[in-house]
Amino acid sequence: MRKQAQNKMLLLSVCLVMILSLISGCSGNNSAEPAASEQPSASASASPEATQQAAEDNGVPASFKAGTYKAEADGKDGKIQVEVTLDAESKITDIKVVSQNETAGIGVEAINKIKDEIIAGQTLAIDAVSGASESSKAILTAVEDAVKQAGGNVEAFKSKTVAKAGEGKTEQLSADVVVVGAGASGVSAAVSAADKGAKVILIEKTATIGGASNLSWAGKFYNSSAAVSSGLKVNVEKEISEWIVNNHWRVDAAAIRQYVTKSGETYDWLNKKGYKTTFINFAGEQLHMLPAYETRQPTLKAMLAASVEKGGGQVLTETTAKKLITGANGEVTGVVAQKADGTTLEITGKSIIMATGGYAGNKEMVKEAFGFEGVNGGLGQNIGEGLKMSWDAGAKVPDNFGGQMLHQTLARATEKLKAQYKPFEASYPLMLSYLPTLMNVGPSGARFRDEAATLTAVAAANTSAFNGAYHLVIVSQAQIDALKAKGMNGVKAPALPGMPPEFYASFKDQFKLDNPWKDADKVFESMVANGDGYKGNTIEELAKNAGMDAAVFSDAFKKYQEAAKTGVDTEFGKAKEYLLPMGESGPYYAVIAEINNLGSVGGLLVNTKFQVLNDKRVPIKGLYAVGLESEGVMYNDTYVGNGVGLGYSFTSGRLGGEDAAAGALGK
Ligand SMILES: Cc1cc2nc3c(=O)[nH]c(=O)nc-3n(C[C@H](O)[C@H](O)[C@H](O)COP(=O)(O)OP(=O)(O)OC[C@H]3O[C@@H](n4cnc5c(N)ncnc54)[C@H](O)[C@@H]3O)c2cc1C
Repeated sequence: MRKQAQNKMLLLSVCLVMILSLISGCSGNNSAEPAASEQPSASASASPEATQQAAEDNGVPASFKAGTYKAEADGKDGKIQVEVTLDAESKITDIKVVSQNETAGIGVEAINKIKDEIIAGQTLAIDAVSGASESSKAILTAVEDAVKQAGGNVEAFKSKTVAKAGEGKTEQLSADVVVVGAGASGVSAAVSAADKGAKVILIEKTATIGGASNLSWAGKFYNSSAAVSSGLKVNVEKEISEWIVNNHWRVDAAAIRQYVTKSGETYDWLNKKGYKTTFINFAGEQLHMLPAYETRQPTLKAMLAASVEKGGGQVLTETTAKKLITGANGEVTGVVAQKADGTTLEITGKSIIMATGGYAGNKEMVKEAFGFEGVNGGLGQNIGEGLKMSWDAGAKVPDNFGGQMLHQTLARATEKLKAQYKPFEASYPLMLSYLPTLMNVGPSGARFRDEAATLTAVAAANTSAFNGAYHLVIVSQAQIDALKAKGMNGVKAPALPGMPPEFYASFKDQFKLDNPWKDADKVFESMVANGDGYKGNTIEELAKNAGMDAAVFSDAFKKYQEAAKTGVDTEFGKAKEYLLPMGESGPYYAVIAEINNLGSVGGLLVNTKFQVLNDKRVPIKGLYAVGLESEGVMYNDTYVGNGVGLGYSFTSGRLGGEDAAAGALGK
């Protein structure tokens, strides 16, 4: 049935193209004049009514006007502005991206790809590029707007499906080791397996190599040669035992030991491969800053070329794993995948490594496993496919399944405010959510923490998450007045807010404690008007408007004011210097702050050879997992590391690749 409908659509599309090219051949006119006025020359004897009818039948409305149109839409990181040229036949002949701020290597590639597909297929019925859905949607929306401005037939463009070249085709491939996912862990695994002599096929869903590492800052490689030579050596035994205790012993102690004792070698390994990280002593923690953003993907590609491709293997991007192939005894023997052109690949391998980064991009899965969604600050394409196919092949769902990498919080107000104000002003609510001197309450109105937790990224997020899907930052008019007059110094901020760097990159010059917050009252009024925060003239009114329990909130408020007066916070022990009085009268505002989830943690249980375990905790022959999907062995319920995400992904990949190669080659 589906095939018949597709054939019908194809036939209709072919007819439409033929009719359009006939008209174009007759008129021979490519000027930017309105198409409707040209049509009489294509059928000189027809009446105006008949001509209009014919044009409409051909999908070119009478109102259509050829020319170049400007349009814009919101991408992931701001507006994407385009100039779209439509010719006399309502054909999109050119799309110029005039300005955009999307992520290099991800959003930018998606924009270019979609732009080319629109022109080649003369269609707006194009799938979003995996991993760049917001950028994809934005370019499609902007071009649609341009077509609309031209009076073109938007519906015809949106309903024109272009058959994929590979649909119905199946190809067979084989390798010793097949790696699924090309983030930090997958690339490391592919490279180290190839270096051990294995023929490797690496498949990656998107067009991008590097996954979340391309967006990250620094990794932890314990006692790396750089750290030690800089004079900072960590007591490994102490580190391991504290890690285990801090996770209530509900972790794989051998996995932690392996990471802590072997990650230093990963630093040297990456360095030798050309992926050079820079050691920094981060308040006693051994962090290593990743190379410059723009150099990361090319370096990882060069590593793959020098090891995987040189060893006779392949790197297949825009190829999505769909299912694992299993043998008669439950062993995993391959992967079924699909290329962007629709071709099905059946890839057999002796060892299959899952490195698909988890499920944080799958709202339903996060909600079910964690209780609520939070904001996905990680990769949208990580929707749990790798986990599901591994579970289908017999992998155990770990007992601690559901942990997330919660890092910092975000203000719900930011997105809409960005459309109304400059980035600095639009970030006022966000900045407040990082200041320890303001009062924070949970959805019920109860205060829930020493607000100094906002100074530590993982503490900021996890204390909030324990209290529900969001928390509220309370700010009084007196405090807003102080912000307007003296900037963050007005509310005694001890340091600049430690927000995710992409926020303040665009207003570095204004990001100062003493910079007055111009238009602060307008911004907070807009936040309320946009439905992204609340206001009340009194504490009771604020409680009502924000859906808090009035009695709970006013009790919390009274206690907080008392603590500010006495300098003693009997409930949470907040330091005196952070206890700031709110003033004697309203109005009061409540900023909605939500957790930022950088990725899910865990989903597959592994041993220290990164073999995936089944329900009986016995390795499934042929199946390995590295990176985030195997990281649940390191944490009880929640990720609390600084730099461990990257440190573990590179290290588990490096070691897991070697193990998988040894398994495949029988060594
Ligand atoms: C914004 C941000 C900042 C961060 N900052 C830090 C930091 O400073 N320090 C730190 O330690 N950690 C940080 N992290 C976390 C860290 O980046 C991750 O823990 C780590 O990069 C995960 O690597 P991975 O290889 O396991 O997964 P990913 O990087 O998620 O890679 C998984 C890959 O699998 C692909 N894939 C998914 N499904 C399929 C499929 N079905 N078929 C084929 N391919 C598929 C994806 O496209 C992706 O490329 C940050 C994360 C984010 C999002």
